[in-house]
Amino acid sequence: MLRALINLLYPNLCASCQEVLLKNENVICYNCMLDIPRSSHYQDIENPVAKLFWGKIKLEMALSTFIFVKKGKVQRLMHELKYNGNTKVGELMGVELGKEIDKIEITDKVDVVVPVPLHKKKLKQRGYNQSVFIAIGVAKVLTCEINTTLLKRAERSESQTKKSKYERWENVGSAFTLTDASQYIGKHILLVDDVVTTGATLEACCKKLKEIKGVKLSVGTLASA
Ligand SMILES: [Zn+2]
Repeated sequence: MLRALINLLYPNLCASCQEVLLKNENVICYNCMLDIPRSSHYQDIENPVAKLFWGKIKLEMALSTFIFVKKGKVQRLMHELKYNGNTKVGELMGVELGKEIDKIEITDKVDVVVPVPLHKKKLKQRGYNQSVFIAIGVAKVLTCEINTTLLKRAERSESQTKKSKYERWENVGSAFTLTDASQYIGKHILLVDDVVTTGATLEACCKKLKEIKGVKLSVGTLASA
C-alpha cells in the first residue's frame, strides 16, 4: 500500500534499486536493466521452459526472459508488478520478452497475445491482472493484437474449493473456458504470464486453447524459477 503510494507520488525512481532515474531512463535504470539475470532461452528451442511441456502439449516455442532467484532483482520487480501497482514494470519487461520472441525464427508469426487470466477473487483484490501489462509490452514489439477475454477462469463449484481437488481439476483443463474462439481458427496464439514454475497453469490454458481448430500455440513468461 505504502509502496503503491510512493510509486504514484514519485514515478521517477527505479523500480529495482529505488535510485532516481535519469532523463532517458524509464521505470528501471540502465544499470539494473543490465544487471537483471537473463536466461537466453530464445537462443535454444530446447530450453528448460520448453521441456516442461514436452509430451504434454505441442508448442511452437516456449521461453522465459529473466531468471527468478529468491531475494534477487527479478523477485523484487515481480513484487512491484503484482503487489505495488507498478504495472509499468510489466509493460517494460514485456517489451524485453517481446524482443527475444522477435529474434526466434518461426514459420508462423504470432497473431494474438493472450494473458493468463486471474481468478476473479484475486482480480478484485489486486484491481488488475499483471499479465495483461506484460501482454501489452510484448504486443507492442510484435505489432499484433491482445485478447484479454478469449480465455476465462471458470467459476469453481463448492466441491472444487478444496485445494487438492482444485489442482486436479485445473490440470485437466476445465479450469478455463473459451469465449468467441472462432476468430482464431488456424491462428498463432502466444500465451503470456509473469513467472513459470511447474507450468501446470499454462498447460491447462494451452489445453483449452487447443480446442480451437488448427490453432498454433506458444508460451512466453517474464521469468522462470
Ligand atoms: Zn536501478
